[in-house]
Amino acid sequence: LIENESKNIVILGLGTGGMYASKAASITNRNARITIIEQRDYDMFSPCGLPYAIEGSVKNFEELKYTFPTSKRLQKFLSHKAVEIDSENKSLTIEEVGTGRIRDLDYDSLIIATGSSPLVSPIPGAEKLLGRGVHIISTIENSEALKQAAVHSEKAVIIGAGATGLESAVALRELGLEVVIIQRSETPLRRSFDPDMGKMIIELLRSKGVTTFFGDSVERVNGEERVDSVSFKGESIQTDLVVVAIGNKPNTGFLSQSGIKTTRGAIVTDMRMETNLRGIFAVGDCACTFFHLDKESIKIELATVTKEQGLVAGTNAAGGSMEYGGTLGTFVSYVGGLEVAATGYNSMVAMKRGYEIITGKSRMKVKPKYIPGAGEVTVKLVVDSKSGVVLGAQAIGEEGAAWRVNVAALAIKKRVNVCEFSSIELAYCPPISDLIDPLHTAANIVKRRLARAGSRAQF
Ligand SMILES: Cc1cc2nc3c(=O)[nH]c(=O)nc-3n(C[C@H](O)[C@H](O)[C@H](O)COP(=O)(O)OP(=O)(O)OC[C@H]3O[C@@H](n4cnc5c(N)ncnc54)[C@H](O)[C@@H]3O)c2cc1C
Repeated sequence: LIENESKNIVILGLGTGGMYASKAASITNRNARITIIEQRDYDMFSPCGLPYAIEGSVKNFEELKYTFPTSKRLQKFLSHKAVEIDSENKSLTIEEVGTGRIRDLDYDSLIIATGSSPLVSPIPGAEKLLGRGVHIISTIENSEALKQAAVHSEKAVIIGAGATGLESAVALRELGLEVVIIQRSETPLRRSFDPDMGKMIIELLRSKGVTTFFGDSVERVNGEERVDSVSFKGESIQTDLVVVAIGNKPNTGFLSQSGIKTTRGAIVTDMRMETNLRGIFAVGDCACTFFHLDKESIKIELATVTKEQGLVAGTNAAGGSMEYGGTLGTFVSYVGGLEVAATGYNSMVAMKRGYEIITGKSRMKVKPKYIPGAGEVTVKLVVDSKSGVVLGAQAIGEEGAAWRVNVAALAIKKRVNVCEFSSIELAYCPPISDLIDPLHTAANIVKRRLARAGSRAQF
């Protein structure tokens, strides 16, 4: 706790990163004065809830909004955007959205948490038709527009099968549309899931009535006044609307003259989340991050990662000392009634990093046979065959995939050996779980394979 040092901290962006940076700064330094600049005209909202508001399980988009309270030491400028940073004089220029009125602010520490925006331009023809049949999902406004369009539509094409693409495909199917999803890679979520696990997601989509094309790219989005089709494999698919969900670009355009170092648009930081300019920090979707296991730089957009980085940057900006340890990419998505979760390396990434691996996969009911209606989960572990250390976990199932992956995430972080992992004490009670858990079974399969391969790792 810092008691006597007064700090003037400015935070750009009131999303996950801005909010947690602000919380950490105010806890770290009782004399910190915090100013948050946000271009929206309303307070916070939860982007992660958007697919569920489109689908209807969240009844109203307004339910996703909430207030981040101000205090004597915290002020917010809503409807204002940062347009320029003068790091030499420790000041920045903000502009009021709508009026264009300019104002200058000084800072002792600056935290950039401006997030990212969906990429559209790589798909030929899409940008021109944005808002006229082409949709993105990132804000309450554009998600509400998609929902309204969906109500009057029969057919939708989703381009991209990352978490947002998958979740929106199922959401639009729930609304009764004929849905086609097209993804360049052979299976979805390739950085997290091995192809055999990815195929389970494809099967799920098909079982929900979604038409899937994996391993193929959209050539063009077509239409004059509005979208009428997409060109694909030399043919055209008629559609009423298109959702582009191929990834995001960091909101860092306003930094071009600032001297802040970026790579492919994302702000480069050290482990304190500080940029190349002292006193300027960056967190979340606008910043680079690195993988915990190998410290390799990766682009990842998760609220979980952003929150941790926000806590680190806020603490340091206020005069404290904290380091970010890197991400394992631990995530879960909810696709058509299945939890789809992963952490650490998948097989492909582990091998690319030079590991020889052994995997173990179990597909089991999560409760004893005599419990009616027990769901099934498939768990896959990726293990280093030399050391026996767990490197990654993937799980897909009707229930309990996320918590199993969360347990594995801790094991990976703590470099736990698969033998130790196989004897992990997990809570058991028939209506909840079974005595031998799918995690145990997957670990035991790896152990047997290690023994057969003559690895010394098992001891
Ligand atoms: C549909 C969807 C579903 C998701 N689901 C999940 C999930 O289930 N789990 C998960 O972990 N993550 C999920 N994410 C990702 C997660 O929401 C983001 O990683 C996280 O919100 C990033 O936080 P951030 O603070 O970096 O950016 P944001 O939360 O986007 O906040 C950035 C803020 O900066 C403002 N801003 C931008 N430029 C300026 C400027 N020049 N001046 C002032 N203000 C500016 C923006 O208006 C915005 O409010 C999802 C994202 C989406 C879009």
